[in-house]
Amino acid sequence: MEAIKSLREPIVCVLGHVDHGKTTLLDDIRGTSIAEKEAGRITQKIGATEISYNILEREIKTAFKNIPIKIPGLLFIDTPGHVAFSNMRSLGGALADIAILVIDVNEGLKPQTIESIDILKKFKTPFIIAANKIDAVPYFVNTSNTSFANAIKMQRREYIEELDNRIYKLISDLYTYGINADRYDRISDFSKTFAIVPVSAKLKIGIADILMVLSGLAQKFLENEIRLTYEKTLGTVIEVKIEESIGITLDTILYQGMLKRGDTIAVNTSNGPARTRVKAILVNSNRGLKESEKVVAAAGIRVLITDKIPVIAGTSMIKIDENTSEDEAFKTIINESKPNIKISEHGVTVKAEALGSLEAIAYELEQASINIRSAEIGDITKHDVTDVSTLNDPLDRIIIGFNVSVLDDAVQEAASSDIGIITGNVIYSLVDDAQKWLAKRKHDLEEQRKSNIPVPSKIVIMPEYIFRAAKPVIVGIKVLSGRVKVGDTLIDDNNKYAGTIKSLRDGDVSRQFVDAPAEVSCAIDGVVLNRHIFPGETLYVDIPENVAKQLRSEKLDDNIMKTLDEITKIKRKINQFWGF
Ligand code: GDP
Repeated sequence: MEAIKSLREPIVCVLGHVDHGKTTLLDDIRGTSIAEKEAGRITQKIGATEISYNILEREIKTAFKNIPIKIPGLLFIDTPGHVAFSNMRSLGGALADIAILVIDVNEGLKPQTIESIDILKKFKTPFIIAANKIDAVPYFVNTSNTSFANAIKMQRREYIEELDNRIYKLISDLYTYGINADRYDRISDFSKTFAIVPVSAKLKIGIADILMVLSGLAQKFLENEIRLTYEKTLGTVIEVKIEESIGITLDTILYQGMLKRGDTIAVNTSNGPARTRVKAILVNSNRGLKESEKVVAAAGIRVLITDKIPVIAGTSMIKIDENTSEDEAFKTIINESKPNIKISEHGVTVKAEALGSLEAIAYELEQASINIRSAEIGDITKHDVTDVSTLNDPLDRIIIGFNVSVLDDAVQEAASSDIGIITGNVIYSLVDDAQKWLAKRKHDLEEQRKSNIPVPSKIVIMPEYIFRAAKPVIVGIKVLSGRVKVGDTLIDDNNKYAGTIKSLRDGDVSRQFVDAPAEVSCAIDGVVLNRHIFPGETLYVDIPENVAKQLRSEKLDDNIMKTLDEITKIKRKINQFWGF
């Protein structure tokens, strides 16, 4: 008879910055999961790897005596990363009960490490830190396939010092993110301190230590979370496959209860919640997938369903039985499909592949003080582009796509609009790009605003270039400071009106504005030469008082400031308080 479990396997997810060793660590764990170690026998197909009680005990006991193991094993989710972590939900929050944050001990915290910490904090998921690549620390004496506790005994003083320096640096950097951490073998109270386990995923050093610390934490602090009950049977669909010959299969992490062949289940589809039946259940075994009559949580399983329905990955599977009605299951499924994102009146538009990643990017945007006006699942469509391009605020005309495509007609539509589309699959670079886009657009808008207000400028009418005396006056001018623009009003040094600039011409090229220093020909309307203005005379661009005040608060070029002072002096001949 099969033993009755009181606890289920804790579900473990691996997170961390790219290249810090997540995949290598998971490979080690997969290697460990095989009872008789034979090369090439890693046959797991469903997205999770189980470390059974026996293997856990064997691995831990080789390095640490007298550690009682109360959990029935560990279930590792095979897809690493914080995006997978956010996409895999359970009804209580994150599917993973506990996580391993992998950090290259030589590189320290990196953007995705920080994103991972943020997300783990948001989901309140406990985690341990694998300080990886300890073999790349100087003075390393080569060893492999052993615990860290053992490996460190073989190292020289210089190595131990180098490693300690890196770990101290890691501890102090983590502290700035509110994480109080220490090397696991120096911790007295695990409820207050995050454990750092030094490892080399490449040389399989420290795997026993990782398994021991994970098990210890889980059985001490997660007992409630991992208590196995049969009242409800719940799973998270992590991958949907449509196989022509057999039908639809759902790779699922079963995290509560028991599922049997023939059970009725509720799942989420693109048309809303649906009911279907379990036609067959496949589970991992050392020899590939095998059929199973019934499965108890926690387990990675492949469920073949009886209906051809478009199930959405990342959503719940709920068994319908005497404890859970169809109505209740459907309500739960509808509720969990609503993103938990703060929507503002103004802000960016976000699209992502799945609910979890949508929330993950929304969370990071929020951290970066970028508001969101719309957040939806799916590719970027033509409709999204037209919607965004008609928004009033130019700063809202941006779409951020996370792990999605821009559909062809959307690309075409976007080409003839002024909207920004930023896509990618790394959250921090997307947030970075969005910030840059917004900064540039703000700058452009500011430039545009500036181009409409007059700049304090000074010109001289060049006596040797007089082309026309009136209607309009056409003369050569020397621009001594500032920027002269078509439409500017000119004054003389007694604040008398000296005409309006009708056009500016540099050789054959007509210009809307000219920056100092320059010599150009200029048409001036509204005045007559030798009556109102004179060859050799110095003129200024007229500045309204409110503009002068505003310009004083901006950092302007020295020459322009000097001209503004001169203009102020002219104005104060008439009004001594001008510009105060
Ligand atoms: P991921 O992007 O976090 O999944 O990182 P990978 O597991 O793919 O590892 C990235 C690179 O680091 C690969 O070239 C690995 O061989 C290397 N690597 C992983 N773990 C270790 C380690 O413990 N020591 C050393 N020296 N290299 C490692």
